[in-house]
Amino acid sequence: MKIKDNIETFNSLIKRRGFIWGPSPEIYGGLAGFYSMGPAGMAVKNNVLSIFRKELRSYGFEEVECPTIMPEVVWEASGHLERFIDPVLKCKRCSSVYRADKFLKDELPDLMIDGLSFAEMEALLEKNEIKCPDCETRFEKIEEYNLMLKTKVGVDNIAYLRPETATTTYLLFNRLDQVMRRRYPIKVFQYGKAYRNEISPRQGVLRMRSFDQFELQLFISKEQEFNFEEFEEVKENELPLLDWELQEQNIDKPNNRSLEDAIEKGMLKKPAYAYCLFLAHYLTKKLGYPDEVIRYRQHSPNERAHYADDAWDLEIYTEQYGWVEICGIHDRTDYDLKRHGAFSNQNFEVAMGSDPKEKEVPQILEVAFGVDRIIYTLLETNFTVEEERINLKLKNYLAPNVVAVFPLVKNKENIRNLALKIHNDLQDHLISSFYDESGSIGKRYRRQDELGTPYCITIDYDSLDDNAATIRDRDTMDQTRVKIPKIPEVIREKLLKSKL
Ligand SMILES: [Zn+2]
Repeated sequence: MKIKDNIETFNSLIKRRGFIWGPSPEIYGGLAGFYSMGPAGMAVKNNVLSIFRKELRSYGFEEVECPTIMPEVVWEASGHLERFIDPVLKCKRCSSVYRADKFLKDELPDLMIDGLSFAEMEALLEKNEIKCPDCETRFEKIEEYNLMLKTKVGVDNIAYLRPETATTTYLLFNRLDQVMRRRYPIKVFQYGKAYRNEISPRQGVLRMRSFDQFELQLFISKEQEFNFEEFEEVKENELPLLDWELQEQNIDKPNNRSLEDAIEKGMLKKPAYAYCLFLAHYLTKKLGYPDEVIRYRQHSPNERAHYADDAWDLEIYTEQYGWVEICGIHDRTDYDLKRHGAFSNQNFEVAMGSDPKEKEVPQILEVAFGVDRIIYTLLETNFTVEEERINLKLKNYLAPNVVAVFPLVKNKENIRNLALKIHNDLQDHLISSFYDESGSIGKRYRRQDELGTPYCITIDYDSLDDNAATIRDRDTMDQTRVKIPKIPEVIREKLLKSKL
């Protein structure tokens, strides 16, 4: 791929152009696992969010937002206090701490580590005489480490920062049941911060301790899971599926399979779950990832979270980190609602079918996106260097600026005023425009190429006579002369075309 030899250029671009900064706070040396979004990163993030929101609305989803701090009982009920743990290697001599599965993966790259139990990993430590890299002491035991961040509310109420948005959405169940008028499946999503106290976050922005999630939830009946109308509309779509069986044969290339076929072959059990795989893939494709960097990887039975019956990750291939999970699709069964019903003494049984006397606790299917990972992988996959020219080929509608407007010279008032007029006119037409009059034209173009701005408009001396300006295309570098009053319309047409 394109960026292999340019990883350092890429990493510096991310900072230099204001996409992602950190670890934060940089001026105090930084705390591992915490990052900030610069103006360009934030603009891309907002564009991603607005695409997701718009698309999900057309699929019948509604949005909620909950507090990020919840009392202890919530996490007792959800099972996170007991089971949201990572395996840890702690050196008994020098107290260095490593996440066991990641450490073993690095030490034993030919073995399949994902999905091993604690005992199996301990056996590997013993067999391979694995030592602490800091002091050469043998590692023997694997310890449990809870990933929740604990805090206090008021004087002495123990609470935790949420490790996922999902649980906080489930706590709204009886409200949602009422406001959505008991029409199942209920489809909601929540976007917001979640926190995980990762042991030793090493992969930059991929393993953050404070991060943004965008999580979709379907509350659905058992019957609907197997007999789901909307599945019929999407079942012919082919997805790149790497199931657990393939992984056990050490294969890492997915098979393209239609969802219908995957259900028939038993690779996927439930049509409604298959529909969730479709939905996540559909949203991902809207962001413009090419097919060859997308795959679906099924979790091993051991790798699944404590609540999951089946789980697949949607992964994006990156040069810097290999395959990166940007989304997980989880069949959470009725686990969450049963637990919260029991702990809160609420009855979450509802009539979901045609018979009002037949009541059940809904099943939950979840599509969980990590937004920061989307931003990182989007930047990496779209980063190109062609003959020393950096070009960030983001989809037009994802770029921080759609248009940049340059007066050829800034000390000619007529030219400057005309440029500002075009810039304001574009803003009035809801097209995000950036005005820049400083530095040489070449430098201004380069800066916008690095930000991924698809169109640059230059106003020159001729513009005063012919009332036209030059639109330069980021990718083809073609320049076309367009009458100034026509500019917003021309840009809007280009945008629409790129969305198709
Ligand atoms: Zn040590």
